[in-house]
Amino acid sequence: METTSKPIQFDVSSIRRQFPLLAETMNGKPLVFLDSAASSQKPQVVLEKIDYYYRHLHANVHRGVYRLSQEATDAYEHGRKVARRFLNAAKEEEIIFVRGTTEAINLVADTYGRKYLNPGDEVIVSGLEHHSNIVPWQLACSHYSAKLRVIPVLDNGTLDLDAFRKLLNDRTKMVAVAHVSNTLGTINPIKEIITLAHDKDIPVMVDGAQAAPHATIDVQALDVDFYAFSGHKVYGPTGIGILYGKQKWLSELPPYQGGGEMIAQVTFDHTTFAELPHKFEAGTPNIAGAVGLGAALEFVMETGRETIASHEAGLLSYATEQLLAIPGLRIYGTAPDKASVISFLLNNVHPYDTGTILDQLGIAVRTGHHCTQPLMDRFGIPGTVRASFGVYNTTEDIDQLVAGVRKAASMLQ
Ligand code: PMP
Repeated sequence: METTSKPIQFDVSSIRRQFPLLAETMNGKPLVFLDSAASSQKPQVVLEKIDYYYRHLHANVHRGVYRLSQEATDAYEHGRKVARRFLNAAKEEEIIFVRGTTEAINLVADTYGRKYLNPGDEVIVSGLEHHSNIVPWQLACSHYSAKLRVIPVLDNGTLDLDAFRKLLNDRTKMVAVAHVSNTLGTINPIKEIITLAHDKDIPVMVDGAQAAPHATIDVQALDVDFYAFSGHKVYGPTGIGILYGKQKWLSELPPYQGGGEMIAQVTFDHTTFAELPHKFEAGTPNIAGAVGLGAALEFVMETGRETIASHEAGLLSYATEQLLAIPGLRIYGTAPDKASVISFLLNNVHPYDTGTILDQLGIAVRTGHHCTQPLMDRFGIPGTVRASFGVYNTTEDIDQLVAGVRKAASMLQ
């Protein structure tokens, strides 16, 4: 990291004021929230939209002729319109509401597996995947006697693309990779990965859980086949997320779940399915979640994704420099292209112990394997301490973190 001065801040204090929870205390200390990669806090506008929805608009969607049901439907479908714009998808039909990234990946692994996986086929994931982008593919592979292949991770936390090229072959049926690593912060070269896979007519699913809060995403420019993200990491509510899929794939895949909303005609002999996107939205959906997600994505787009990214890049380089100045501290994940996530360990100190001392100081960081156990095995460590930054974090937050880690180092090392 070259930067040695504190980053210029955009008006972060006015952003912070929009997030009520950041004014809370933790263990009697002002909260320093550095765990946005696990789940971000929510701005007032999201809280208000959800509140307004339940107070004034709620009814079940897509069913009623009465006005309230139509208003609820409009509010729900507005969330889809905003998500389409957020991803620059060509059509609203390509935007499926799901519970989150995990459900999106399970949906694709299950339905794609049923339609396309045969014994001897291969699915490629990478060595830095979240368990959510490993286990669903493992389940599908074991069901159809297919094989899971893994792109190795290099020492700096980037993917070995030469090895990836060699893994691609006639038996490869899917490539599933993260856009951004939740543990190391590595931003993967997904455009290059997609191009390499498409050269062999292999579709690509991207887990965008950690990219959506930080990056501008253009699914058409990427030409990605499937892209997933979770609302709760991008300043929206829990229990809602987006699966983008190219229309041609979503039309071909069988339904994931059966029930109301996803059908055209039902008889005991035969059922026909609703058009996209409803084919993949069985049952009463998370209407308030979709409303809140729409508000969150509007908040992000209005704040400006480039503004957010450059603010966070400043925080990342400042934090990296400050942390590396602590004797005995090692950072895991030193890719040239990183999102605002820093994993580190103090020499001979278990991450849990560092996290506990930070907690006593009011500093919320995540400790452990971050749902990436194979990646921890790759580095031969039990876990890390992970600090992750969002739009509302400040250099003062980082100063607190650094002081806390110094304290932990002096007590524990
Ligand atoms: N993939 C990545 C890279 C993640 O960081 C996470 C959340 N930690 C997930 C998938 C799963 O997201 P969710 O729990 O919201 O489904």
